[in-house]
Amino acid sequence: MPVKLPLYFDNAATTRTDPRVVEAMLPCFTEVYGNPGSRNHSFGWASEAAVDKARGQVAGVLGADPKEVVFTSGATESNNIAIRGVANMYAKAPAGSAGRGHIITAVHEHKAVLDPCKRLQKEGFEVTYLEPGRDGLITADMVKGALRDDTILVTIMWANNEIGTINEIPEIGRLCHEKGVLLHTDATQWAGKMPVDVERDAVDLLSMSGHKIFGPKGVGALYVRRRKPRVRLTPLVDGGGQERGFRSGTLNVPGIVGLGAACEIAAAERDAEGPRLLALRTRLEQGITKALDTTQINGHAEKRLPNITNISFGFVEGESLMMATKEIAVSSGSACTSASLEPSYVLKSLGVGDDLAHSSLRFSLGRWTTGEEVDYVVDKVVAAVNKLRLLSPLYDMHKEGIDITKIEWAKH
Ligand SMILES: *Cc1c(COP(=O)(O)O)cnc(C)c1O
Repeated sequence: MPVKLPLYFDNAATTRTDPRVVEAMLPCFTEVYGNPGSRNHSFGWASEAAVDKARGQVAGVLGADPKEVVFTSGATESNNIAIRGVANMYAKAPAGSAGRGHIITAVHEHKAVLDPCKRLQKEGFEVTYLEPGRDGLITADMVKGALRDDTILVTIMWANNEIGTINEIPEIGRLCHEKGVLLHTDATQWAGKMPVDVERDAVDLLSMSGHKIFGPKGVGALYVRRRKPRVRLTPLVDGGGQERGFRSGTLNVPGIVGLGAACEIAAAERDAEGPRLLALRTRLEQGITKALDTTQINGHAEKRLPNITNISFGFVEGESLMMATKEIAVSSGSACTSASLEPSYVLKSLGVGDDLAHSSLRFSLGRWTTGEEVDYVVDKVVAAVNKLRLLSPLYDMHKEGIDITKIEWAKH
């Protein structure tokens, strides 16, 4: 079957909403439209029942109690509520003074974690930014080495959105529980795709998002542990006291129902979907690396999500490669912070040089990716790289065995 263009290989940025999710949401616009906070009529009760069902579906995918699920506008908000909420609640000194407490995170976290941490630094908290090795992983040992007596929070993502690497979350969780420190994890790329059990994995706070798991945009959830330990948070938004006071505002019922449906589908299909995606990703990686020299797959060889691969193509510029393969939607190693042409800080943190970071593409597969599409992408990318390299004098020199890193360029 011929593939239908353009092809979507950017599922780590967002996903198409599953039609079954849309189906579940539709009645919430025109029939079940009451305010779930309206306790005195059947319109409110119907909406409340729909939200309760969704809360159970989200809790189900996390191994949590439904009471521990707080609905938000997405993972960015979940991260902010968790990180700033914990810092302010557990601060060791009043606002305006230094020495308010210590937080541990990593340099290659998503901006939705890094930026709240930076804000907290301005507010008197100290933050340690762990650096991964070349494999991109954050291990429990790294966290252990950074823990201090005044550490109040560890926030480490479960899987990285640019390279798909999987951090040692259960091990870090157990370490934190031993030391009496709270663990938050940005599980946006993990939850719904891979198994989670907040008890077994010793997670205290967990962020997830609807639109990364074939649900709608603008809705997400924050898991907040209720016992052993009971996590307390200072809310960012005050108002009607919805969501246990952690997140005031009338609930986004259609979005919440969509997130619930997305979770239920994910839980039912995950075990079959994981191996299918892994086979496709392997086909993509092998197709490309066998046909092209001087390519590298970034991040740990095995400890990666089945649907994400980040490949650097030596002697090619990522933006030119994207232009040459316009009918394939991917992300480049520089476009992630969009307008800026800075190389990806995630790749840089792994020790990938600026040139190679600029020449990297992230391919992320999804529920509707087929083998034919993968083969098409392999052919297109290989052809485009070969063509661009024909124009590259540096590649010629490389082929002739000249080590271009050792060349002394003429000084002007
Ligand atoms: C997409 C993403 C976010 C942001 O999620 P939104 O729901 O769009 O706010 C945060 N963290 C990671 C790891 C992501 O991939």
